[in-house]
Amino acid sequence: MVDALFLAAAVCFILALRGLSSAETACRGNLFGIFGMILACVGAYLSINFLDMGFTLLAIAIGGGIGVYVARVVSITALPQMVAGFHSLIGLAAVLISFGAYYAPGLFRCACSSCNVAELGLGLAIGAVTFVGSAVAFMKLHGNCPNYRVPQMLNVFFGALVLSLFSYFVFTGSETALLLLAAFSLILGGTLVLPIGGADMPVVVSLLNSYSGWTASGIGFTIDNDLLIITGALVGASGAILSYIMCRGMNRSILDVIFGSVDRIESEDRLRISESRPIKCGSAEDAAMVLRNARSVIIVPGYGMATSRAQYALKEMADVLRNRGVGVKYAIHPVAGRMPGHMNVLLAEAGVSYEDVFELEAINGEFPSCDVAYVVGANDITNPAALNDPSCSIYGMPILEVGKAATVLFLKRSLGAGYAGVDNELFFASNTMMLLGDAKATTEDVIKVLRNSGR
Ligand code: NDP
Repeated sequence: MVDALFLAAAVCFILALRGLSSAETACRGNLFGIFGMILACVGAYLSINFLDMGFTLLAIAIGGGIGVYVARVVSITALPQMVAGFHSLIGLAAVLISFGAYYAPGLFRCACSSCNVAELGLGLAIGAVTFVGSAVAFMKLHGNCPNYRVPQMLNVFFGALVLSLFSYFVFTGSETALLLLAAFSLILGGTLVLPIGGADMPVVVSLLNSYSGWTASGIGFTIDNDLLIITGALVGASGAILSYIMCRGMNRSILDVIFGSVDRIESEDRLRISESRPIKCGSAEDAAMVLRNARSVIIVPGYGMATSRAQYALKEMADVLRNRGVGVKYAIHPVAGRMPGHMNVLLAEAGVSYEDVFELEAINGEFPSCDVAYVVGANDITNPAALNDPSCSIYGMPILEVGKAATVLFLKRSLGAGYAGVDNELFFASNTMMLLGDAKATTEDVIKVLRNSGR
């Protein structure tokens, strides 16, 4: 019965991942995930014979209650922190289960053979790194933790220590080795993530996602739970593939993301525009006039669209422009916003058709022939410094080349830098018009002018 439930749950999780891979099928994928999790909970309950029903229901009620509360109160802009927080909990669970399996192997039906000890140690070490690393990522994404310089030799030292303790633990099963392995893995999780910041955070979050999967898989072997093994492998592999895709999108290698941060922190400090060159600021009327005369407009959303919730106004503006015969497309950068797919989710929420949304490679060639690039709260993903300035933290990341459009309308509240802290030369370009203010309010004003100005 339990095996059948676990098998059904694993199939549901595979269908969930399949569904979540495209916006059209994401809701169905989510439902498969929920159903699979219910089957998994029932199976887990039936497979354990030392818990009474009341205790299990209480645990489900507390966990489920926290889940519902978090889902209701967390704003869409805080989703990346929430994801990092959840990864941290997976790491913590792995650490606790490892200790449980070590001290009470009978309860976990775990033989503690040398093979099991290896899986246990692996699950513990990766779990501890994931726990602290994700907690640090959570604080960074929440703005509570600056980037610290950590000498790479220290990471190499802790890494070597963790490997040695792991090997010693596997051969001896020693309790001291287990405790030291946990302690140094926790420290390694912190020292690895503390120096990383800026444009590299998305890759780190997805990498930690992958770690959390491998942790679950390792623990699944330890406590002989097939569902954990399958689900962990799914999460681990998909997180690793996503990290690879994001690194490719930023033209970086994983090793450079993890170990290259120290030099970049130093160069970031030097990169602030102190001069006060003239910029061209415009009003909603000016922007409406430019848009009225355009034949093609590409909307480039970024993190500011999420914070101002401008997606509905953008959709409305696109509809108004289309009614005037203007071609409108949306351009999405792989790391726009604060989580993979952030912009796609928001545009889909506002009812933007998937056919109008184009990924970076597909649309970059269209900017030179486009009349207006309407940049909404995006900064780093358009910053030419990524192409021209080898000393800046986002160097090498492909950008949406909005500067090649005839006119760039830049909607943001100030001339401040984006997430990576690198100033954007585009603000001073002769074909740029800055529309300073909240993106949603500005777009609504533009719509009003467009509607009032007739054909
Ligand atoms: P950026 O953070 O580079 O720029 C966003 C801009 O939005 C800011 O410069 C800000 O300028 C503006 N803004 C904020 N609020 C508003 C508002 N209410 N109205 C108008 N403008 C507003 O975002 P991008 O999307 O361009 O780039 C994403 C960055 O985040 C990249 O560096 C990426 O690596 C990183 N990142 C991405 C993650 C992902 O998975 N996608 C995860 C974590 C980080 P101002 O304050 O002047 O208004």
